[in-house]
Amino acid sequence: MGKTIIISNRLPLQINISDKKLEVTPSVGGLATGLKSFHEEGDSIWIGWTGLAAEEIPEEMADAVVEKAANEGCVPVSLTTEEIEKFYYGFSNRTIWPLFHYFMEYTEFQPDHWEAYKTVNEKYAEVVVARLNDGDTVWVHDYQLLLLPDLIRQKKPNVTIGFFNHIPFPSSEVFRTLPWREEILKGMLGADLIGFHTYDYERHFLRSVNRILRHDIDFNSVNIGDRIIRTDSFPMGIDYKKFRKAAKEHQNQPRSENTDVQKKLDYHKYVTRNTKLILSIDRLDYTKGIANRIRAFGYFLEKYPEYKEKVRLIMLAVPSRTNVPQYQLLKKEVDELVGRINGQFATVNWTPIWYFYRSMPFENLIDLYCSSEVAMITPTRDGMNLVAKEYIATRTDNTGVLILSEMAGAAHELNEALIINPNNFEQIVDTLKQALEMPKQEQVRRNKILQKRLKRYNVEKWAKDFMKSLKDTKKTRKAFKAIELTPNIKKDLFDRYSAAQRRVLFLDYDGTLRSFEEKPEDAPPDQELINLIKRLGEQENTRVVIISGRDKETIGSWWKDVPVELIAEHGVWVRNVHKDWKLTENMNNSWMKTVRPVLETFVDRTPGTFIEEKNYSLAWHYRKAGPELGEVRANELSAVLRDMISNHGLNVQQGHKVLEIKNSGINKGKAANKLLTEKYDFIFAAGDDWTDEFLFTELPEQTTTVKVGMNKTAAKYYLKTTDKVRRLLSEFIELTH
Ligand code: UDP
Repeated sequence: MGKTIIISNRLPLQINISDKKLEVTPSVGGLATGLKSFHEEGDSIWIGWTGLAAEEIPEEMADAVVEKAANEGCVPVSLTTEEIEKFYYGFSNRTIWPLFHYFMEYTEFQPDHWEAYKTVNEKYAEVVVARLNDGDTVWVHDYQLLLLPDLIRQKKPNVTIGFFNHIPFPSSEVFRTLPWREEILKGMLGADLIGFHTYDYERHFLRSVNRILRHDIDFNSVNIGDRIIRTDSFPMGIDYKKFRKAAKEHQNQPRSENTDVQKKLDYHKYVTRNTKLILSIDRLDYTKGIANRIRAFGYFLEKYPEYKEKVRLIMLAVPSRTNVPQYQLLKKEVDELVGRINGQFATVNWTPIWYFYRSMPFENLIDLYCSSEVAMITPTRDGMNLVAKEYIATRTDNTGVLILSEMAGAAHELNEALIINPNNFEQIVDTLKQALEMPKQEQVRRNKILQKRLKRYNVEKWAKDFMKSLKDTKKTRKAFKAIELTPNIKKDLFDRYSAAQRRVLFLDYDGTLRSFEEKPEDAPPDQELINLIKRLGEQENTRVVIISGRDKETIGSWWKDVPVELIAEHGVWVRNVHKDWKLTENMNNSWMKTVRPVLETFVDRTPGTFIEEKNYSLAWHYRKAGPELGEVRANELSAVLRDMISNHGLNVQQGHKVLEIKNSGINKGKAANKLLTEKYDFIFAAGDDWTDEFLFTELPEQTTTVKVGMNKTAAKYYLKTTDKVRRLLSEFIELTH
């Protein structure tokens, strides 16, 4: 079994260098806990930055840092001060972070930051690739490393790669403003599995892939050439046991052993009985809605003055990204707001807001969680928000009310919290009142449900689920039944080709012999293809049939002087070498006058679509329509048509961005079979779309069927591209020379 490599921007380590002394201690964040079982397994490693710039590590200590990190299963990526400035504080935190949190006004598009982001992602890739073997599993984390999955894939195509995005993924309308949007999406699509906290983020990502890269989406997978990339949502949990245990110990411990913070909280509760504590904990980040929360609290005291001296807001704001100007401005704004509200409402006995600008050790967080009757978490945007979950987990007596913004990923799971819109002040203050007045019984009822979920879907389960899905992507790859026509398999095919007395080859045109163009009329055969088909047809005892959905006029004019047989319009018409077109069946097209007006209404409602009238079929093309609207309308239209045409001997076929209505007795397979009037000992069929599946299923069992691309198919083999089909055909020709 291969090893697991975890990669995140920061290693789960704290490194201290003072007085030329090196101290490396493992840090136990949520991610580290969740991944512990994988990280400790076998020879797994964690790759990331130490948190210290290369310049901060004295040269003579560099080896010791690597060695000490290695003791913890970690491999450091060395970053210079300039790289940290441009890659981390720059592109990661001044472009991706604000954009993905819908703060477009804070989003900077600086080419030098982008360049640094690319360089640093490449640096990570180098460190990863140097330690990577086929069969290993890689899990890349978060928005600093969006390019990494593809960088790894390019160098090691056969490893299994997972990516988890810990922040929101914005609507495609917002995402598409990014000048480097294609590169970012391609970077992420290097993974086999891409995870998000919520289905909404996943949906936004898929929409962006569809609209920007124009890849087709099939439920939650993206097919690109020979690869299938899956997306899914995995809401990250917390280390429930750890919080629960700490809260229980906190509750049972003798007062004398309480922390100073707890002693202060207890004193406060003692002198101002019936005063309730409202807790607010976040990194000081503009996405957290801190300033608005303070304003809302001020408004609450105005609207419900009976609560003066009866409530206190405890605000813990953890310093964060202090190098970035918006964070500095926010700090100033929050300082001023706290000052203003305290100045306006304080009495001799009471200060409405206790404000801490620092981070607190774990035990003090537990003190705060356990002592607060209400937690008010109101981010304007937040990928998940773990504080909300931690608060609920520590409420051992099941009391406490969580007020949570609907813009936090956690709101999707924590339905029993009081969910608010962080921009609706009236709603916030009324909900705060509701929280303060909520009967205990009701609190307990809600929290029991919340706790059950948090306990079950904890961080370990989150990591396990992700890893399991990632492993399953390997199985999906295997479940794809068609086998790639590799040189080894070709050998056998060539033997059969050479030995055959009579051969026939059915070759679909668009997507098989010729790649797609934006406009169908721009795809006539090139000279190379014409020569190839000519030479193939010139071989003794070899029949070549080009079989297409196109109208007979187009396909006929393109292959006018080439001695090749043609089947047009999915099997309606057949043309023998140097002969005229003939109908394969007797057909009647009186149905067209009823169906055409229906198609016209869809053309009117769907810009970019058009009707093609063939001799015995009608086609509605939506290749040029917006991809999303095109798919929606295609579904709608096929439902309408199926009702309309049942019992009329017609059917609707879904081709590549086209719906075609025609007589149901006709398909490519039936038409091809009709040509098998003699005995053949080598039958070959190649095609790329749904209509070619008839060839694969209706031709005799011994047919060598080849699908172009990697979608679901009844074909026995597949080739990845049209170029590979052409190469195979020229190899056939060489066999007989
Ligand atoms: N936290 C901490 N020390 C503090 C305050 C908070 O370690 O002084 C932790 C908190 O327990 C939580 C994390 O920081 O696990 C914050 O995670 P969250 O998802 O709420 O927000 P993020 O900072 O990731 O945006």
